[in-house]
Formats: sequence, structure tokens, C-alpha cells
Amino acid sequence: MKRFIKLLFIFSILSCVVIFFLLKSSIGPYFKMSFLNVGQGDATLIQVGLYTQILIDTGPNNITLSRLAEEMPFNDHSIEYIFISHPHADHIQGLLDILDVYNVGTVFMNPIVYESPIYAKLVEKLAYMNIIVRQFRAGSDLMIGDVSVHCLWPNVDELTPTDNPHDYMMILVVRYKKISALFPGDYELSGNLPELIRSHLDPVVIVKVPHQGSDGAIDSDILMRLSPDIAIIPVGPNKYGHPTRETLDLLHRSVRLVFRTDKDGTIRIVSQSDGSYGIMR
Ligand SMILES: [Zn+2]
Repeated sequence: MKRFIKLLFIFSILSCVVIFFLLKSSIGPYFKMSFLNVGQGDATLIQVGLYTQILIDTGPNNITLSRLAEEMPFNDHSIEYIFISHPHADHIQGLLDILDVYNVGTVFMNPIVYESPIYAKLVEKLAYMNIIVRQFRAGSDLMIGDVSVHCLWPNVDELTPTDNPHDYMMILVVRYKKISALFPGDYELSGNLPELIRSHLDPVVIVKVPHQGSDGAIDSDILMRLSPDIAIIPVGPNKYGHPTRETLDLLHRSVRLVFRTDKDGTIRIVSQSDGSYGIMR
């Protein structure tokens, strides 16, 4: 009898250990930031815990849906928060398809007067589907557990009609424990960058390179200020020569790890809840 109890005890301990490791592997990392390979456009999916997703920009077409399917948990059909940096097609067009497939919680998008058939269609579709749309301006914050999304720009009260929606770019900083990432949308971080943006640029671990790494996407002053460890260029086949040699050279000189989605595919930064993080491709 004693032997039986001893065996039962050992069996229980072993079962607990196996269950612990099974649960740990199925839960995966607590925080995952995936810079999706969506071609010539931007889309970054951030997963918090098991079932909360934040999407920053939505890519240029329905390729984003395939990329999302690769990243999303198979039984999760909701994306809780979507941020739209600005209404150019390579950042918003994917959302038209996403709305057909996923339950979308809140879309953060500033109401810019901007003439474009795709933007008009999106605004109409969001209204028709009763999706919650909120503004997100300099100083706005979204907190989900230990993850924060902070807005640096636009810092104006009135958004006036514009031919260049880049003027009202939503610039975001995402933080989780040791990870911090700057999402400047397409706002070129060079030249006459308004002091209000420049003075708020603190060092980050990751910078998403603006505007597919065009000339002037980022300059050495800003890189010094940000001192990022990782730079990620979302880019696809294009006729503009993006990313340009000049920008690539500058990044390779100043940043330890430089990735581009056309060559490296989707880049994932994963972190456990203890703050340790790594890169997965
Ligand atoms: Zn743009």
C-alpha cells in the first residue's frame, strides 16, 4: 500500500510538471510584435497575452489577411484595436478586407479631410458597420495591462483640409517592459522635423523606418537621438528604389540590426512576462 501511495505521489508530481510545460508552450510569449510582410505598405500586429490584438496600419491590399492568419491564434477572430497612421492607400486599404473577416473593436483614426476613393469607402464602411472610431492625438494613451500606446503627433486641435495627410501623421510609441518601439507612420524623421516632435523623441529599442526607407526617411541626428538597437523597413517590390542606398547605408552604420520585410519576411519581436525578449523570423 505504501509503495502504491509513493508511486501515486510520483505520478502526480510528474503530471503537474508535464501540464505546466504543455500550458507554457500553448500560451506562448506574453507580448509579440509582428512587422508583417505585406509588400509595399505598413502593417504591424501586436499581440498582448492570449487574445488581445493591436494592429498599427493595415497594409496595401488583402495580403494583410493572409499575414494575419499566420499570426493570429486559430480560435481568435477579433482584433481589439486598430490604429490608422494616415489615410494613404498603402496603410488603409487592407482594413476594407479585415472588416469582412474579423470582429474589429475600436479604430483610432483622426478625421482628415482628404480626397481619395479608398479613404471615402473606408469611412463609409466603418460607419455602416457601426465600428467605434476614436481620435488619437498627441498625449493620448491606450493601456492594456503592461502595454502602453502613446501618441506623439498630431498635436493640433483643428485638422484642416490637406493635400498632404503626412502633416497629420499619427506617430506612436509602444512600450512593454524592456521593449519600446517608435511608429512614425510615413513621417520622415529628417530635415525640418517640428521641434514638438523632435523634443519628444526618446531612445527606443526598435524604430519602424518611415516611408519604406525612402531618401530622407531618417537622418543621422535622429538616429543618434533614438539610438535604436533594431530598425525595421517594411517594403515590397516597388518602382521608387525603396529602400534607397543612402538610407540603407546610414541604417547599417548606426543600428545593430536592420531588417527589411521584402528580404527577411515578417519580423517578430517576442517577449515573456519577465521582460526578456528575442527576435523570431
Ligand atoms: Zn503615406
